[in-house]
Amino acid sequence: MIGRPACPQCGETALRPDVVWFGEMPYDMESIYGALRGADLFVSIGTSGAVYPAAGFVQDARSMGVQTLELNLERSEGSGWFDETRLGAASVLVPEWVDEILA
Ligand SMILES: [Zn+2]
Repeated sequence: MIGRPACPQCGETALRPDVVWFGEMPYDMESIYGALRGADLFVSIGTSGAVYPAAGFVQDARSMGVQTLELNLERSEGSGWFDETRLGAASVLVPEWVDEILA
């Protein structure tokens, strides 16, 4: 617990932001899988695809028959699992893709 500030009120040093860090499981994996099961399209934007369980969501989505799309600067480690990969800056790819699906 090096480098974390103590609470100014009570001195507690186990304070942390409410985010998922390396080695932790996201909250409520069942609802994540429920969302994957109900999806028509799974899109991964700007990730190395190297950290599980999130890195495995593309394989899970595919096994559920969900179409998969990767938008990234370079191919992720799991790039081969995607139906389609588009390489480039998210600031360019995401607006283009949104315009495309809304057309
Ligand atoms: Zn406190």
